[in-house]
Amino acid sequence: MTARGVRWAVTAAVLAVVAAGCGAVPSAAPEIGGRSAVVPAPAGVVELTAPPSTAPGADASCDATASFRPDGPLPEPGRMPAGTTMARIRDKGRLVVGVDQNTYLMGFRNPFSGELEGFDVDMAREVARAIFGDPTRVQFKVLTSEERMPALEQGQVDVVVRTMTMNCERWQRVSFSTVYYQAGQRVLVPSSSDVTGIDALAGRKVCATKGSSSLANVANAPGKPIPVAVPNWTDCLVLLQQGQVDAISTDNTILAGFAAQDPYTKVVGAVFTAEPYGMAFPKQDQDFVRFANALLERLRADGTWAALHRRWLGDPPPPPVATYRD
Ligand code: GLU
Repeated sequence: MTARGVRWAVTAAVLAVVAAGCGAVPSAAPEIGGRSAVVPAPAGVVELTAPPSTAPGADASCDATASFRPDGPLPEPGRMPAGTTMARIRDKGRLVVGVDQNTYLMGFRNPFSGELEGFDVDMAREVARAIFGDPTRVQFKVLTSEERMPALEQGQVDVVVRTMTMNCERWQRVSFSTVYYQAGQRVLVPSSSDVTGIDALAGRKVCATKGSSSLANVANAPGKPIPVAVPNWTDCLVLLQQGQVDAISTDNTILAGFAAQDPYTKVVGAVFTAEPYGMAFPKQDQDFVRFANALLERLRADGTWAALHRRWLGDPPPPPVATYRD
């Protein structure tokens, strides 16, 4: 099967899942577990020989999960205080949000409607609802893992809601909300694999995206797997299906989406890193961060967070507890 054929098959699997209802594994799964020998790798694949420079945990100089305290109750939608980042966004008429479009369950395109959907997408719509009173006042900008930080630094987006781990290195360049989801890194392998977790991947190829903390965690894993870097998470799934990598390692959220898309895969081993997700903002937009944190307080308290979790990710645990740095 060609790379394009595999991609089509993956899309077919997503279609089947969407048709069957949220999170259901397709009963008549298409043949997507094949191991063709001569297939082109997805564009942009890089086998890393040195660890990426963004190793998380390298900088433990801050409390990465502590954000800026709300400075009061939320203003009424549509009535943003003059001179604030929120007033500028309201005047612009839409919230520009960086999201993913190929991470099933978190940020993906519904093939029937063409709309972006998922837990992250719904969280972004809540921000728009708080500013405008209308969750549809959003312009989505699709970003790869690697494009998130530059998009924020260059002002291409107002906020990024895209499976983004809060860490001290990133805090140097952007600001984060409080934690809205607590993920952790695991390993996905073909169902037939005898790999039991990250420690069993010594000298074997493990895929993750460029610019992700997942890639740095793979590169720094004590077992010394060989990191393989690609632009998009679905590129990793294609490489795994082609037999060109032995495993994918990233957040349990993203792996859950893969496992639902491809029934010939399984998630193995324990969670071996903490990946707290925050909404990310241009560094100077502290007022907007405080606003988002007031909103998150409300979404945790009024059951919205739990409802969104149930919609996309299953039975909700208690929402992550907010911690503040000032
Ligand atoms: N949570 C990880 C990160 O922020 C991986 C997710 C991703 O790259 O999309 O880098």
